[in-house]
Amino acid sequence: MKTDKAELLRAHGLTVTPQRLAVLKAVEHCPHGSADAIADDVRGRLGTVSVQTIYDALTTFVERGLIRRIEPAGSPALFDPRAGDGHHHAICRSCRSVQDVESPITPLPFRAHASRPDFVVDEAEVVYWGLCAACRATPDTPPADTPGPRPRPRKPRPHSL
Ligand SMILES: [Zn+2]
Ligand SMILES: [Zn+2]
Repeated sequence: MKTDKAELLRAHGLTVTPQRLAVLKAVEHCPHGSADAIADDVRGRLGTVSVQTIYDALTTFVERGLIRRIEPAGSPALFDPRAGDGHHHAICRSCRSVQDVESPITPLPFRAHASRPDFVVDEAEVVYWGLCAACRATPDTPPADTPGPRPRPRKPRPHSL
């Protein structure tokens, strides 16, 4: 999908800054990346950018619906460039890779609403845990030797709700 990032920011009522553009590009470049991974990517583009600036941009983008934050158990928050479509995720227990899973025909929030009309759903997070194809192919490889993102110690969340 080719979208003009500056236009996208303006369409969401946000001032365009080089930092925000770099953060938005980084989220697309590392889909389902942690704030740390995104910060690395942003620094690769812009040089020194404070962690706070990156967290602030991520928080703002999530609030405005430009990106989506998912918070799988035992993982730092991950940021997803696909927002608003309610898709689900499959996460590998071994290498922690995250894959998109298309949601069923009726998006989950609306199904929840059908059974609990008194409860207004604004978000649904569905995670399927298992083993990815690569990890199933090498079942004896210890997780520490597998490529890809690994669980990191928890960092302060980029938001304070
Ligand atoms: Zn895996
Ligand atoms: Zn996703």
